Amino acid sequence: MALLEIERLSVNYGAIQAIRDISLSVEEGEVVTLIGANGAGKTTTLRAVSRMMRPVSGRIMFAGRDITRIPADEAVRIGIAQSPEGRQVLARQSVQDNLELGAYTRRDAAEVKGDISRMYERFPRLGERRHQLAGTLSGGEQQMLAIARAMMSRPRLLLLDEPSLGLAPIIVREIFSIIRELNEQGTTILLVEQNAKLAMNSSNRTYVLEAGQMTFTGQSAQLVNDERVLHAYLGG
Ligand code: ATP
Repeated sequence: MALLEIERLSVNYGAIQAIRDISLSVEEGEVVTLIGANGAGKTTTLRAVSRMMRPVSGRIMFAGRDITRIPADEAVRIGIAQSPEGRQVLARQSVQDNLELGAYTRRDAAEVKGDISRMYERFPRLGERRHQLAGTLSGGEQQMLAIARAMMSRPRLLLLDEPSLGLAPIIVREIFSIIRELNEQGTTILLVEQNAKLAMNSSNRTYVLEAGQMTFTGQSAQLVNDERVLHAYLGG
């Protein structure tokens, strides 16, 4: 049984069909990449899984349970966390407040405190800036905060939307080494990335979305050199 199983999912924005009949699975322990040109429907797919968008048809299964219609906070509670596109940290709140917010569904205050300390060990720059307003952090630090905040719910599945967006190459490498480390420590990851080559090189399998439909899937190592895939994520 896959950890995440999306079956023939369609999501609309009013009259606009954003994704149509897409199917995708993520096995426990995998890193899976979802690539595609701008507007292909990648963010919409993640938002359907984290239950921030309501599908018009299809089914989403998580750990054997039908989650197609559960509320977003319930999705967090059962182990799905999203680091959204554009990071969306709370700019006028401190680093610490942002991390505490990531744990809003948890009732184990003492363990939450322990997890925050561990985040500061893993991300020393966040530790040094724990009382600083998140909006004053650099782009790379905000991305780390967004990932650390998502990890505060102790997810089994982490959804990462464009973690490298707008960051310098050296910071991008750091973000990808964090992704690898989180995966090695047991978190399953579904990754949306513009930087398709890097994402494919850092994942087990890849799915390609084109204009709301799934067109290719396979082992990342094989797709990374596939001309048709290159064509698809460059937008035709
Ligand atoms: P990007 O890389 O640009 O974020 P994406 O692959 O994540 O692209 P989505 O953001 O999922 O694509 O968008 C899929 C489709 O849905 C696009 O045609 C987009 O214009 C449309 N769409 C997205 N958000 C909205 C919205 N809030 N209202 C109306 N249409 C939307």
